[in-house]
Amino acid sequence: MAGAPGVQLIPSPEEIMQILKRTGAFREGHFVYPNGKHTAHYFQMPLAFRYYDTARVLAVALSRKFRVDRDIASQLPKVSIISPSSGGIPVAFGVRDALSAEQIYWAEQENGKRMFRQYVNQGDINPCIIVDDIIRSGHAIEETVGLVRSLGAPIIGCGAIVRFTSAPDQLEGVAIKSLVEFDEKYYDSAETCVECTKGAPEEHVRF
Ligand SMILES: [Zn+2]
Repeated sequence: MAGAPGVQLIPSPEEIMQILKRTGAFREGHFVYPNGKHTAHYFQMPLAFRYYDTARVLAVALSRKFRVDRDIASQLPKVSIISPSSGGIPVAFGVRDALSAEQIYWAEQENGKRMFRQYVNQGDINPCIIVDDIIRSGHAIEETVGLVRSLGAPIIGCGAIVRFTSAPDQLEGVAIKSLVEFDEKYYDSAETCVECTKGAPEEHVRF
């Protein structure tokens, strides 16, 4: 297998994590989220997507997970790639490019409601693949599934570069594909946080 011509390998989770560390998209330390939870790790995925080469490697790797799925491959190129939020836009463009998929859409939060940035009518959207940079709770992707369903489009794939293992691994029967599955531990408060008990300096993060 290895090195055989024409064989497209998907990088291992360890290789993906090395890329995320190298670009600063994954950090270890002591972080406090706006909701007051503490963690020992922090992902800021757009830092990996600021470099063209890295962005391409990550998006192509994720696209391969979709291409090996016969049901998805058989529907290309009449497929829409959809991002639930701004963080997923570079992923969506990279996956669209690698799969030569026909359409791309992205959603935004508007007055607390997730809506497509593009004006979309019932029946406009091809069978779709929803992609994001990271799935932490799964709420954004779940809302996007609802949005897509309301417009009458079938969902044939879901995926992200990183999925927290606490998030769903499938949505309405569609498996969520990811390059890394990360077992993130959240501490609800400083009292229960291991890093706090060690006296590690804390960094407040915005997202
Ligand atoms: Zn702490």
